[in-house]
Amino acid sequence: MAKHTDGEWTLVRDDRHEHYSITAPAEDGLVYVIAEIGFGFTGPFEAEQHANAALLVQAKNLLGMVQRYASECPICNGIGRRMTHPAGVQGDCLACTNIRALLAKAGGRCPTTEGA
Ligand SMILES: [Zn+2]
Repeated sequence: MAKHTDGEWTLVRDDRHEHYSITAPAEDGLVYVIAEIGFGFTGPFEAEQHANAALLVQAKNLLGMVQRYASECPICNGIGRRMTHPAGVQGDCLACTNIRALLAKAGGRCPTTEGA
């Protein structure tokens, strides 16, 4: 599975071209443009685009927090399974199943259950 772009993601507003760019640092002082979000519309879609840009630039940070929550789940100790007794595993942890499904959709790895 491909990993997400390294480095801090930054939101750059370009009023002249009416779009935001989400960027990350690249080698030699260059930047990667991860996404562009247009604005300059009329009506409620304009406010939505500004809100969408603010959300998308935090996607990597949100992913990291969700991964951390899943890996520190107090119900299953981050294994994603609930135990009925020391010798048996009895299915998914109900406290973090939805979070793990969301991580799978986002391509985010949960370090305690994958690759182990
Ligand atoms: Zn859990």
